[in-house]
Amino acid sequence: MADLIVGIDLGTTNSEVASFVDGRVQILGPGNGVLPSCVGFSASGELLVGESARNQLALYPERTVRSIKRRMGSGETVMLAGKSFTPPEISSLILRELAGWAKSALGETPNKAVITVPAYFSDAQRAATREAGALAGLEVVRILNEPTAASLAYGYAGGGRHTALVYDLGGGTFDVSVVSVEGDVTEVLASHGNNRLGGDDFDDLLAAHLAREFEKQHGIDVRQGNNPGAKARLWWAAEEAKKRLSSEVYVQIREESVLMRNGRPLHLEMEISRHDYEDMIRALVESTLDSVSKALSDSGRRPGDMDAVLLVGGSTRTPLVFEMLRERIGIEPRQDVHPDLCVALGAGVMASRLSGRDAGRVLVDVSPYSFGISFLGERGGVPYPHCFRPIIRRNTPLPLTRSEEYSTSHPFQTEVDLHIFQGEDDDALKNIPVGDFTIEGLTSLSSSNEIICKMRLDLDGILEITAVEKRTGKSKRITIDNALKAKSDDEIREARKRLEEMYRSRGEEHDHEHHDHGHEHEFEEAGELVESEMEAAFREPLPGEEAALYLVERCRNLLDRMHAEDREEAIELNERIHDAVAAGDVATMNEAARGLKELLFFMEGRPN
Ligand code: AMP
Repeated sequence: MADLIVGIDLGTTNSEVASFVDGRVQILGPGNGVLPSCVGFSASGELLVGESARNQLALYPERTVRSIKRRMGSGETVMLAGKSFTPPEISSLILRELAGWAKSALGETPNKAVITVPAYFSDAQRAATREAGALAGLEVVRILNEPTAASLAYGYAGGGRHTALVYDLGGGTFDVSVVSVEGDVTEVLASHGNNRLGGDDFDDLLAAHLAREFEKQHGIDVRQGNNPGAKARLWWAAEEAKKRLSSEVYVQIREESVLMRNGRPLHLEMEISRHDYEDMIRALVESTLDSVSKALSDSGRRPGDMDAVLLVGGSTRTPLVFEMLRERIGIEPRQDVHPDLCVALGAGVMASRLSGRDAGRVLVDVSPYSFGISFLGERGGVPYPHCFRPIIRRNTPLPLTRSEEYSTSHPFQTEVDLHIFQGEDDDALKNIPVGDFTIEGLTSLSSSNEIICKMRLDLDGILEITAVEKRTGKSKRITIDNALKAKSDDEIREARKRLEEMYRSRGEEHDHEHHDHGHEHEFEEAGELVESEMEAAFREPLPGEEAALYLVERCRNLLDRMHAEDREEAIELNERIHDAVAAGDVATMNEAARGLKELLFFMEGRPN
């Protein structure tokens, strides 16, 4: 019988197996093909591998082992349900399970494997990995460095010479490598990392936040005392919320019966924003960037020398990781091969090569375009109503859902126009308009109103855009078919013309020659969104601008208490100040500010 070689990512948190099936390398196994790297024994002595072991981890830590990869090659043993095991023995149980998955998918049991290890693994750790394979009945035909596997999955090996930065942030480990790939030879030039840092730390920070919130709601700190069940629930809820925050800007958490008190169940109910979550993890992400700098300097390369930045590991789905890395290296990181499956797929590519089949690069369905909406922001230091930043980024695996948050730009704004574009340019008008709609009947507020824009793109090219008023949940949705189909020049011209006509009908003269001079545009009367988290200003403030805007802010807080005429006057003055700031007109700004100050003087002196 011919040899059957599979590729295996034996990970700290999760493991996967891949093989060449139906002309391409694929992940094998039930569900999404991810096996938690956990082994345990149930109360009745039954061996548990994967999900079932992971589920009992928090409740029965003495009967469960995780992260065994950290102990490979150490010569230590672990105690499990009163018995002693070596790390290769535990790892072999994980490999055996994966071999079983391969057998179910392929109809025969694999007898050989390519197994990946971190670039920094010592000889002893590599030998322990081979031993685990042998114990599972698998001859390990190649131990493959993980960053090399990632570059294989992306098809970098094969032609020309490339230098790539492989950034791998998993559940419990982080490493970054600079690799040079030429033909079949991949050299790891430098590698850095922290094998105690990963998504689990993000979970811990978020779980602590949940525990504090629970304490606020019920006066009980579940972290104190013997509450393994409650701790496990919060930890689990934190991980779920964390994953959802990768595509949503707000997540509602509702955990029923976290604890019982006097026979009454205590629930946790709260909301968390991506913004607050990002503040919690920012320092940890920053620390990974220090390792990136070290790896680059050790390899003698500069950021500009990188042909690609490859994202590996489930935690790189975190938008903040993508953004901070993009800012540091200056190129768009690639995540088109599923980051949590990338290493296993690369091992699968190597396994198929060793079996005499050329798998080329791993094929995945991705969005070939970026999509987003235009908003009022700043370009070149001046306010500009057609700023653009993708919500869906090109080369992201499909299907996908992403949300971003925006705010209305005027007080009492009750409708918003959404213009959807395909493209990359930070000037929306240089991208291709693909649709627009208006959401009406928004709550009339004196302060800004939060609007969430959610985009979902399917494998069959259906793009769904939903605008939601956060405070009420009021929403409107449109669907665009064929979003993945390339547009003809005629279609693009037609779409641009339609957009221009619309701007013209609203009194906004629009001239393509002047895109870079945002201040030459008239603002739309109403219906704009401003980028919610826009930095205060990228330009030099006008003399007196801060004081004027402070008055506007004070005035906003008082609007509800004003008489109708005063309110009208205040709004008019507010708008004049904003327009004057936008136009750089200091005299008008100061004049309006004086008027507002007088109005406020009378207001603030008046009793409630
Ligand atoms: P890995 O070790 O590569 O399998 O990565 C596992 C880690 O990725 C765990 O900490 C997961 O919670 C995390 N993870 C998985 N999916 C996501 C997601 N959508 N957003 C953020 N983290 C994720």
